[in-house]
Parts: sequence; C-alpha cells; structure tokens
Amino acid sequence: MTLNLDGYIRKVPNFPKKGILFYDITSILAAPRAFSYCIEAMVDIYGSREIDAVAAIEARGFVFAAPFAVRMGIPLLLIRKKGKLPGITLSKKYDLEYAQAEIEMHQEDLTPGKRVLLLDDLIATGGTLNAARGLLEAGGAVVPEIFGVVGLPFLKYEQALAPTPITTLIRYDSESVS
Ligand code: AMP
Repeated sequence: MTLNLDGYIRKVPNFPKKGILFYDITSILAAPRAFSYCIEAMVDIYGSREIDAVAAIEARGFVFAAPFAVRMGIPLLLIRKKGKLPGITLSKKYDLEYAQAEIEMHQEDLTPGKRVLLLDDLIATGGTLNAARGLLEAGGAVVPEIFGVVGLPFLKYEQALAPTPITTLIRYDSESVS
C-alpha cells in the first residue's frame, strides 16, 4: 500500500510557542487508512528483525507502539514522566531547553540483553530519545534501533542518537510548510 503520509500531517505554525512549526500527528490517527499504513509499514520494517520488545515514550509514542506490539506479538514497555508508574522504577533526568525533565520505566520490564526497539511519534533534537536509550541501557537492555513516524533531521537528532540506526516514515528537511 502506498500513501502520501505528508497529506495526513497537520502543520501548525507557532505552536506551542512562536517560531515552532508543530507537526501534528493527531490527523494521522483520525484517518484509519493513514494510521494503519503507519503500523503496517512498521511491521514491514521490523517484522524480520531481531526485536524482543518495543519501548515507547509518553504520550504520542504509545499510540503507535501499542498496535505495533500487538501485530508483532512482542511486549510493550512504557517510558513515562516521573511519578506515574506504581512499581519499582529506574529513572533518568535530562535537560530541556530551559529546564530539566525526568523519565521512568518499571525495572521489572528490563531484562539484561533484551533487544528493545525504542519508538516515539516524532524525533526533533533527539534529547528525549537519548535519555530513554540511557534508561533502557542502564537497565541492561540493548537498543539496536530507534524509530519515529516523523523525523526533523535539521535539528540534528542523528548526531544526538549516534551510533544507533534511526528509521522514520517521513522526514522534513526544513521548518517551512510545504
Ligand atoms: P526531542 O526530544 O527534541 O526530539 O522532542 C521531544 C518530543 O517533543 C517528541 O516526542 C515530539 O513528540 C515533540 N516535538 C518536538 N518538536 C516537535 C514539533 N516540531 N512538532 C511536533 N512535535 C514535536
């Protein structure tokens, strides 16, 4: 199945603040053809690769990771903002532009040597995924690949996330609306 995914991504200038072009994936979720195209494309890419589990970042990452995990028959591991998970957690702090953030995972989700695909809806600077990869690795997991539905490579996420291979379904090479 081929589909022009760009046509299903709403571009919102100056959101959430002036100067940011926001790539809104809720318009993919509201279009069953586009949503299922994304999940099937992910299964096509990773179906034959050695992946034991998928870990996704709150909140939009969960939406793509959940149907993917079911289609693949693999565990879904949730990476959440601090304070949301009830069990024993591992956590990692990381820097945002003007503040610090902290993410957590359940420790019992991480088995040493488990190969975990790390996923988010959109990869911008890669800062969040970099922290998430550190969290998974601190728990003994291996992160062989990172996936984003949308990639903004001009924000240099490839450098931030090197040497882990990164796959996206669509990339935007500048901050302008096409
Ligand atoms: P980053 O850590 O910079 O790669 O981005 C962190 C999160 O912010 C990602 O999970 C995205 O969901 C969201 N995000 C960052 N920039 C944008 C953007 N221009 N449009 C939509 N979402 C964004």
